[in-house]
Amino acid sequence: MPRPPASQPKHLYLHVPYCVHKCPYCDFNSIAGRDAEHAAYVDALLSEVRSLPRGPYDTVFIGGGTPTILAPALLERLMIGLAKHLRLSDNYEWTCEANPGSADATRFAILAAHGVNRLSLGVQSTHDHHLRFLGRVHSSLEAEQAIALARAAVPRVSADLIMGLPQQTADELRRDLELYRRHDLHHASVYHLTYESGTEFHARRSRGELTDIDPTMSRQLFDLVWNGLEDLGLLMYETSNFSYTGQESRHNLAYWYGRDYYAAGAGAVSCLAGVRQTREKHPAAYITRIQTGGDATWRSETLDAKVLLTETWMLGLRLTTGVSLSQLAQMGDQESRWRSRAQALIDAGLLEEHQYHLRLTRAGRPVQDEVTVYLIP
Ligand code: SF4
Repeated sequence: MPRPPASQPKHLYLHVPYCVHKCPYCDFNSIAGRDAEHAAYVDALLSEVRSLPRGPYDTVFIGGGTPTILAPALLERLMIGLAKHLRLSDNYEWTCEANPGSADATRFAILAAHGVNRLSLGVQSTHDHHLRFLGRVHSSLEAEQAIALARAAVPRVSADLIMGLPQQTADELRRDLELYRRHDLHHASVYHLTYESGTEFHARRSRGELTDIDPTMSRQLFDLVWNGLEDLGLLMYETSNFSYTGQESRHNLAYWYGRDYYAAGAGAVSCLAGVRQTREKHPAAYITRIQTGGDATWRSETLDAKVLLTETWMLGLRLTTGVSLSQLAQMGDQESRWRSRAQALIDAGLLEEHQYHLRLTRAGRPVQDEVTVYLIP
């Protein structure tokens, strides 16, 4: 285990890697089926959690995979074990991801009873033909029902959408965004479809069976999302995330601010005092490692100053607050290195300086990757 940092991290990520079906665009550490393994996995996960400090934690995030795939009794076992070990701060945020295909009132009630106060639902589209294309196991009606159940169970609910699907029209996306108004949601995550290496979509694109969305159309959809959500009071705070002020995902902000965090579960990554540790990705291997030795580390890397600085630029530019200039100075990135490049981007209207931060302008957001590469050391 890496040496714990001087001040105790306040954030904890827990991974449940199972899904009903592997979506063809997904490159997360998730695996379909293996229901018979779920109970052993929950025990292994709890065992790893018990090896971590008890807290208090400001944020806990159960992600996947599909945490709500666990049968209610097993989900309850997990939640009772977590609630028994973990201490939470007064104003804690505890999120659980849920898939509308395996979400129901019983599971949401179990989560809420043991401390979850925020649900993040993978809706992805409100159009059944797009849901079929994405290989989702739920219909748009089931997604609507799941959101209503989630709203009744916990105080904070977020819904994910995917934009940039081939053949997606502006009208369809506009109707997708109505979802947030209909359910009075205060947080939205809208991701652009990407074809990640190793996914079924990537292979299909290589075979010429799938094409990328036209870049001009993609840009229009991006503007539509930005404007449409802004009209609903959901302001962008990160490239793909929008919320009412004060309703941001504090857990994800901790990642983007480069804070330390604990993690447990198959493939879960923790970052403590400059050491990034990844656990065994395959759940069976993870379970065995925990059962036999108690440590499932698969890879441990010490992040050098250059990597940390690069990540500070990359993550900071994703945020609408931007990269902190005082943080750059503290990390040894002298203004003399980046100033002339930043100035060229400021002159081009892509970047601006605001409250001692460098941040992308609206015109710069679509070229975020290019700007980042230009500025990193
Ligand atoms: S439900 Fe989510 S985690 Fe599971 S395969 Fe689909 S996109 Fe990946």
